[in-house]
Amino acid sequence: MQGLKLAAALFAASLVTSGASLAETTILKNVTVIDGTGAASMPGSAIVMTDGKIAWVGPVASLKAPKGAKIRDMSGKFVMPGIIDSHVHVGMMHDVTQDEKYETPENVQADLKIYAAYGVTAVQVLGTDKDFVLDMRNQQRKSRPNMARLFSSGQGAVMKGGYGGLVGVTQPISTPQEARTLVDQQAAKGVDFIKLWMDDERKTIPVKMTYEVSSAIIDQAHKHHLRAVAHIFYLADAKELIHEGVDGFGHMVRDQPVDSELLDMMKAKGVWMVSSTLSREMAYSLAIMPWLQDPFFTRGVTPGTLDALRSPAREKAVVLGPTRFPGLPYERKVFFDMDRTVFQALENYQAMVQAGVNTGMGTDSGPNGRFPGFNAHEEMQLEVMTGRTPMEAIKSATSDNARWLGDTSIGSIAAGKWADLVVLEKNPLDDIRNTETIAAVYIAGNSVPTIWQTCRDRAAKACTGGSSTVSPVMPY
Ligand SMILES: [Zn+2]
Repeated sequence: MQGLKLAAALFAASLVTSGASLAETTILKNVTVIDGTGAASMPGSAIVMTDGKIAWVGPVASLKAPKGAKIRDMSGKFVMPGIIDSHVHVGMMHDVTQDEKYETPENVQADLKIYAAYGVTAVQVLGTDKDFVLDMRNQQRKSRPNMARLFSSGQGAVMKGGYGGLVGVTQPISTPQEARTLVDQQAAKGVDFIKLWMDDERKTIPVKMTYEVSSAIIDQAHKHHLRAVAHIFYLADAKELIHEGVDGFGHMVRDQPVDSELLDMMKAKGVWMVSSTLSREMAYSLAIMPWLQDPFFTRGVTPGTLDALRSPAREKAVVLGPTRFPGLPYERKVFFDMDRTVFQALENYQAMVQAGVNTGMGTDSGPNGRFPGFNAHEEMQLEVMTGRTPMEAIKSATSDNARWLGDTSIGSIAAGKWADLVVLEKNPLDDIRNTETIAAVYIAGNSVPTIWQTCRDRAAKACTGGSSTVSPVMPY
């Protein structure tokens, strides 16, 4: 017995001392690296991934492959960092019905896998998480995840009777004291950010968060060394929130053009446009969704979603009335203005970029009508439509977003970072739509199924058409 114990101890010790030789290494060879920082792309490169981290990146000529390394020759392919979406909501939908009862660990994981399939390797959830999502996040941070990494704002601050949140998950507040208590509770749970909603849905909701409440939220967040990010719509609210010390905005100003006063304030205080959600405004402005036959879209959504979006009943309702997405209870007044809203958002995004405001990339995907992963590619295409280069769009979605998140371990391709990577067949710098030519996705060095290997909630053979090698076509 004693001898067995000793043998076991020796065996354990040998595992520790020979740990280096047990390291798992995979090398991506002969790729063009786009590192996410905006630096020029590097053809003829290799990336060495060891135990989920990038151990080395450089020219193939200087590559020293460790013994036993798996080598993947990826001649002709392009590698960029995993995309980070800084504004999502997870697990709240069943087909086109939104309800807190669908926010289960299974459904959240299903969404995180879809994000990953689209090359979105990290997401910031803004304010609709049940507590188990924080547990999942904690588990991810102790391991090598094989689905999108979570950053969580727990339960965000919603004004009682006002806009925002997720009924049954967020607990609305009405006084500064309640606001401070809410922030204390979220901080105790270990959230990454504090989210607040200040909107009245184009004056269709009589109650909007008061400035006393918002300033209490922001002040209390800062006492806990947490940053506050706000859902906004109006220019006046954006200015007030900056005075109160807000750290970032979860949507673009959309009621009118931004002015130099706002831009100057944002720059002077380093306030971020965390997520411009241009793809959200675009989705809402479209009566007929042009991507309903695009395999890049259809593979990532449930058959029930496709049936609802393609139904003749919906088409009729779109033409005759206000219904653009089944299940959305919006009034005509809200959708009526969406065409103007999307152009205002695009114009204001351009103004912020030109002024040099910190901009991330975020979509507000997850709720009805905005689709996990798919929207991130739409968002980058819309950024380019406003005049940014593909390189800048990629940077906003990778290293800039990592800077916003305050996480130095993701967002670019460099030694020491997590190996969160997207391998593309075609050069996204030639055409931003080429981010859709996804050949492989790695999260912490784990190869995960791509969207081209995915057929959500159906047998694989039910999804036909499209592949990583087919050139994407802008569906509109
Ligand atoms: Zn949102």
